[in-house]
Amino acid sequence: MSRVFTKAARSRQKNAEEEEIEEMEMFGLLGTDHTLKNVARCMRMPYEETTAIERSLFYELLQSRQMTEIFLKIRNTALLVWHMNRQVECTTEDVKNRLETPFKYYAIMIQNIVHYLTRHGIINFGCYHHESHLEYQIPREHQNVLVIGAGAAGIAAATQLSDLGFRPTIFEARQRIGGRVASMWHDGALLEVGCDTLRNLDTSPINTLLCQMDIETTFYMENELIYKDGHRLSEQRKHLFKTLYQNLQGSIDHVAFEKEHRSEDNGMYVSRQQMYENMFNQIERRTLVNFHNHAKESNNLTQRMEMLSKTLETLRTAALRGEEKYKEIPKEDYIQRRSVNLKLKKAMEKFDDAIEEFDALRARLNAHNQMQPSQQYMSPDDFRDFNAHLGLEEYLTGTQLETVQFSSNTRNFLPEGPAASVKQGVGSIFEELAEKCRIPILFKHTITEIDTSGKDSVRVQFETPKGSAAMTFRYVVCTLPLGVLKKTISNDQRAPIFKPPLPPNKVDAIKCLGWGLINKITMGFPDPFWRTFRDEQTQFARIPEITERSYMLSWTSPPNSNSITTYIVAHRTVHDKSENEHVDAAIKCLKEIFPDCPDQPLFSLCTRWHNDPLAFGTGTFMSLRSEPKHFEDISEAIRTKDGLKRLFFAGEHTDATEYGTINGAWLSGVRAAAELANDYLGSGLIDGSDVQIPLADDDFEPTADHYLPKEESFLQPPPELLIPKEEPI
Ligand SMILES: Cc1cc2nc3c(=O)[nH]c(=O)nc-3n(C[C@H](O)[C@H](O)[C@H](O)COP(=O)(O)OP(=O)(O)OC[C@H]3O[C@@H](n4cnc5c(N)ncnc54)[C@H](O)[C@@H]3O)c2cc1C
Repeated sequence: MSRVFTKAARSRQKNAEEEEIEEMEMFGLLGTDHTLKNVARCMRMPYEETTAIERSLFYELLQSRQMTEIFLKIRNTALLVWHMNRQVECTTEDVKNRLETPFKYYAIMIQNIVHYLTRHGIINFGCYHHESHLEYQIPREHQNVLVIGAGAAGIAAATQLSDLGFRPTIFEARQRIGGRVASMWHDGALLEVGCDTLRNLDTSPINTLLCQMDIETTFYMENELIYKDGHRLSEQRKHLFKTLYQNLQGSIDHVAFEKEHRSEDNGMYVSRQQMYENMFNQIERRTLVNFHNHAKESNNLTQRMEMLSKTLETLRTAALRGEEKYKEIPKEDYIQRRSVNLKLKKAMEKFDDAIEEFDALRARLNAHNQMQPSQQYMSPDDFRDFNAHLGLEEYLTGTQLETVQFSSNTRNFLPEGPAASVKQGVGSIFEELAEKCRIPILFKHTITEIDTSGKDSVRVQFETPKGSAAMTFRYVVCTLPLGVLKKTISNDQRAPIFKPPLPPNKVDAIKCLGWGLINKITMGFPDPFWRTFRDEQTQFARIPEITERSYMLSWTSPPNSNSITTYIVAHRTVHDKSENEHVDAAIKCLKEIFPDCPDQPLFSLCTRWHNDPLAFGTGTFMSLRSEPKHFEDISEAIRTKDGLKRLFFAGEHTDATEYGTINGAWLSGVRAAAELANDYLGSGLIDGSDVQIPLADDDFEPTADHYLPKEESFLQPPPELLIPKEEPI
C-alpha cells in the first residue's frame, strides 16, 4: 500500500516539477545568459545560486524554485547595470528599465534587491554620483560613528556608513591615510613600503574604485624571469617545476577537502610544510620501490640468461657427441644411422629454440637496462628549484610554511587573476576616496582605551599631540590590526585597553589566528641595470639556497624606475639584522645576476613592520591552531548594557575568505557598515509577499500593489532607538 502511495506521490511531484520547468521556459528563465554570468563572476556572486545572506533576507520568497529563478534574474541584472557604469548610482528604475517582461513588473522585489545589494556594499559603493536621496532619517544624535583606523577597512566602513546616512569620523594614529598601504616617494621614485600589489584584480572590489577615480594601474610582466646562480633558468625547466608544484598543491587541496587534518596529539592542524614533506617522502618511497623492482627484474633476466647459456652448452656438447657417434656407425646400418640422425635433428631444433630465447632475453635485458630508473625523485639541485615555489608561497602567505596550516583557506592567497600595481601608489586609492567622499579624519589621534561598559554608548580615550582626551560615541567600528589586538590581550602597554576585557571567544580567536611578517628592502641606483619597461612592472626571481627559501627570492621594480625592491620572509631573527647587513646581502644577490650592479645604492630603505606599534607585523594567516570560526568570533560585535551592538570589528583579519589582503580589508569594512546599519535600521526590506507571478505577458496589468510598498518599515528606525539616551559628545 505504502509503495503505491509513494509511487503516486512521486509522479505528482514529477508532474509539478515538469509544470514548473515548462512555465519557466515560457518566461525564458532557463538557459544561461553569458553576460550576466560573467558579471556575477566579476562581482563574486554565484550566478545560479543564492547566497546565505540572500536566503536569510529573502527567506520566504526563495522557498519556490520559480521565485528563486526570478530573484536571480533580477539580482544578476542589477549587478550588470552597476557593473556597466560604476560612476553612477544603480537605481531601482535603472534595473527595471533593463529587465524584460515579465520581470520588470516585480517592482517590490526589484526595489528590495537593489536595496539589499547597496546595503551590503555589492553595488553602489565607493565614489559615484548619487541619483536618489538618502532613504533614512537617522536622528542626529545617532548619526555619529567613530571609525578607528584609516586603513583600507576603516575607509571602506566610513564611506559606506556615510552613504547609509550616518556621519562617521575616523581617528587615525598616524599622520597619513592607508595604514599598511603606505606609498612613499623619494626623488620622484615611488616606494611602496606596505601593500604593493592588487591581486585577483578581475574580481576585486578595489577594481571598482580604480574605475571610479580613473586611477592608472601597471601590470606585471607576464613571463617572470628566474635566475639561479647568476644564470637564467631554461623555460623548459621553469615550466617543469611549476607544473610539479601545481600538481602537489592540487593534491593538498584535494586532501584538505576530503579530510580533517587535526592532529590528535596536540589538537593542531598539520602544517603546509609537513604536508609537502609527506608528499615528497611518498614520492621518494615510490621511486625507491621502482628502483628495487627494476634491479630485481635485471637480476631475474640475467639469471635466466645464465641458465639458458648452460642449456645451450649442454645441447652443443650433446650435438657434437651425436655427430661423432653418427660418423662411427657403419653406412650399411641404415636403421641406427637414421635413428641417430633423427636425434641429432631434434637436438639442433632444441638448440635453435634456446638460441632464440637467449637472444630475446638479451634484448629484454638491454631494453630494461636502458630504462635505468633514478634512486632519487629529485636531486638536491632539482629540489632547490622546486623549493623556490614554496618560497613564493611563503611570500604570498607572509610567513614560513612550518607555521601555516595546510587547509583549503590557504589557497585563497594564491593568485588567480591578473595582479597589478598602481602608478601613483596604492595609497592614492584611499587618499582620493576619502577626499572625494569627504570623510573627516583626525590624524595623530591614538586610541588608548575602548570602554563598552556604559549603558548605550562606547567611551574612547585617546592621545593627541595636545594631550589625552575622551569622547563617547553611539557606535564604534574598530579596525585595529590583529598584531595590535594580540598585544592588547598580552597586556602590552603600547596597545589600547578594552574595558571590560574582550570576551573569551574573541581572545581565543586573536590568539589562534596567525600574524605574519614581510619586510622589504628597497634600493635606488643612478640607473637601472635590470630590464625596465615603460608600462610594465619588472619582476624577476632568484632561486635561493634551500635553507633560505623565501629570503630575497622575489624582486620588483616599477616601470622606468631606478629603484628595486626585494622581500624578506624568514625567521624573526633575520628581520632584526641591521639595514647595512640587509643591503649588503641584497647587493650580493643582485651582483650575481647583474655584474654591473654598483657596490652601494644611492639610497636604501628597510622596513621594520614588526616594530611598528600600530601594526606589529604585516598580515593574518591561518596558523596551525586557526579555525574558520575564529574569523566569526573576531568580527563579532560587542554589546553595551542595553543589549545593542555598539562596538563593531573590521580589518583584513576579520574576513574569512581574503584575510591578509587589501581585498579582505575592504570587504570587512563594508561588512561591518552593513551590520551596523542592519542592526540599527533593520533590514529595510519591504514586505513583498503580495508579489504574484503573472500568467502571461498580455494578461498582466501591473497594479499599484506592485509598486507601492505595503510596509514602509525601513523609513523609521525602531521606536525605542529614537529616544535619545544620552547627549552626544
Ligand atoms: C609589507 C606589506 C606588503 C603587503 N602586500 C600586499 C599585497 O601585495 N597585496 C595585498 O592585497 N595586501 C598586501 N598587504 C596587506 C594589506 O596591506 C593589508 O591587508 C591591508 O592594508 C589591511 O588593511 P586594514 O585596514 O585591515 O589594516 P591597516 O591598514 O593596518 O589599518 C589599521 C589602521 O589603524 C591604525 N591604528 C592602529 N592602532 C591605532 C590606534 N591605537 N589608534 C588609532 N589608529 C590606530 C593604523 O595606523 C592603521 O592606519 C601587505 C601588507 C604589508 C605590510
